[in-house]
Amino acid sequence: MSAPVKIQAPKIQVPFHRPSVGEEEVRAVAEVIRSGWLTTGAKTLEFERRFARYVGAEHAVAVSSCTAALHLSLEAIGLQPGDEVLLPTTTFAATAEVVTYFRARPVFVDILPQTLNISPRDAERKITPRTRAILPVHFAGQPCDMEELRQLADAHHLPVIEDAAHALPAAYREKRVGGISELTAFSFYATKPLSTGEGGMITTGNEEYAARARRMRLHGIEPGDQEHPWEYTVRDAGYKYNFTDLQAALGIVQLAKCDAMYDARRRVAGQYSAAFAPMQALEIPATLADRQPSWHLYVLRLHLDQLRVDRRRFVEELADRGVGASVHFRPLHLQPAYQPYGYAAGDFPDAEREYPRCVSLPIYPEMTGEEIEHVISAVGDVVKHWRR
Ligand SMILES: *Cc1c(COP(=O)(O)O)cnc(C)c1O
Repeated sequence: MSAPVKIQAPKIQVPFHRPSVGEEEVRAVAEVIRSGWLTTGAKTLEFERRFARYVGAEHAVAVSSCTAALHLSLEAIGLQPGDEVLLPTTTFAATAEVVTYFRARPVFVDILPQTLNISPRDAERKITPRTRAILPVHFAGQPCDMEELRQLADAHHLPVIEDAAHALPAAYREKRVGGISELTAFSFYATKPLSTGEGGMITTGNEEYAARARRMRLHGIEPGDQEHPWEYTVRDAGYKYNFTDLQAALGIVQLAKCDAMYDARRRVAGQYSAAFAPMQALEIPATLADRQPSWHLYVLRLHLDQLRVDRRRFVEELADRGVGASVHFRPLHLQPAYQPYGYAAGDFPDAEREYPRCVSLPIYPEMTGEEIEHVISAVGDVVKHWRR
């Protein structure tokens, strides 16, 4: 047994996340409230236009969440009961649940240890005559290998729908995520790189997909003309997934700050990686020449064989030193909801090997230099105390 480590009360507390919102956002939302138009309107259209231009997409359709964006994307390609969709097991619940909305089957795929993203090779092995789409996730904001996924998709005539909840702004071979595949879904949830509290966006270069998603996000309604708005047509039984001008006001301000927020996160990541690279017990996130990660998350990996603590204890030790860390994500095939689909422990060796090693550190634009230094010294201190 090791003697318990005595730690003094930490000088400062660094929370896992703090939102980057200020007076500018407050003023923008107040202006919408005073305008008297609170739901989907001109501000939403303006946000969509700016967002499309920012990511290099032809169309952008704002919706209530990334989950709704993923749902409407699968709806746009006409997913049917019994169809199969390939997605990584290492992702958030939303990526798989939307497939089940159609009574279709989420087919999990193992990850690449280097990036923690979907393995194109394992995806290829999982293709069947029922496969209808590939749904890659840019984990932590690190872009997937889109060239390999494109080749696989084209060979089997499948559309690619990207879960880009973490990936704003991110780029693969000079192309912004959002302008690469048939459809891309973004999240504006409170902790995501651009936040409107809740919200999401679909981007696409396909006019039919865009028109369909636009209609289905609001009850499947085709509007009447301006003089006779009551003469609308319910074309299909749709959903209630629209975006509000209050959210759009926030989004427009956040989008204007998106590059600056990215630069700030990139600097934090750079400082972390420079400090942690020499530490034998740690593995820093991969940086690849052909991609620009958004640095939504900074996922440190532990060499558990070189430590006398497991990941849970490591995170607790950081908390004792005033650092709020987190963990992303327990592979979905291990979650009870997906046991009825026939999945079990052992099915995805790489995802299962990497998950217990992952620790997400605080990374957000509002972090001060002192806070960054504090995280670095806390991690160093935990490693020093618990090294084998
Ligand atoms: C947050 C998240 C989502 C869902 O986003 P919402 O806007 O909350 O619906 C989807 N996929 C991933 C990978 C996420 O992290």
